[in-house]
Amino acid sequence: MNVIRADITTLAVDAIVNAANTSLLGGGGVDGAIHRAAGPGLLEECRALNGCPVGDAKLTKGYNLPAKYVIHTVGPRYRDGNHGESEKLSSCYRRCLQIAKEKNIKTIAFPAISTGVYGYPIEEATQIAVSTCKDFLEKTNAEIKITFCCFSENDLKVYEKNL
Ligand code: ADP
Repeated sequence: MNVIRADITTLAVDAIVNAANTSLLGGGGVDGAIHRAAGPGLLEECRALNGCPVGDAKLTKGYNLPAKYVIHTVGPRYRDGNHGESEKLSSCYRRCLQIAKEKNIKTIAFPAISTGVYGYPIEEATQIAVSTCKDFLEKTNAEIKITFCCFSENDLKVYEKNL
């Protein structure tokens, strides 16, 4: 596991993860950036997926992105921490890695899911991201290189501390 500060749409990994919404039809933040960079083929494939529940994930091709695949996952909206947010966020990371393992994906990059518009506090979200990924790698013996891709300098610092 490693962390970098970058625009996730520029990464030439096997799969990048999209912090999508349940419609899978695009949105703001990282979702909008991924759809713009991938081109209209991505939206077309997403339309056929009929959305995605919170905590789950679905795979598409990467189209014009340097990444071969996009794994779309839907993080929870943060309310007060007492509405199952941590379990749902953990499930996002786990489901993405399960799909990666099934598809023989060896390199994957995650944005900081739910920490933008969905309001998840960065410190708690980072702890969940790192511990869930670590657990998955240990329990499954999967050989997947996981990159946490931060957009801000502050997020990078939080990830570096937690890693
Ligand atoms: P959510 O709705 O899950 O909170 P957002 O897209 O609003 O999703 O934010 C998730 C994280 O993605 C935030 O940390 C935001 O700064 C970051 N982000 C936004 N654009 C990009 C990008 N192009 N590459 C990587 N991270 C990004």
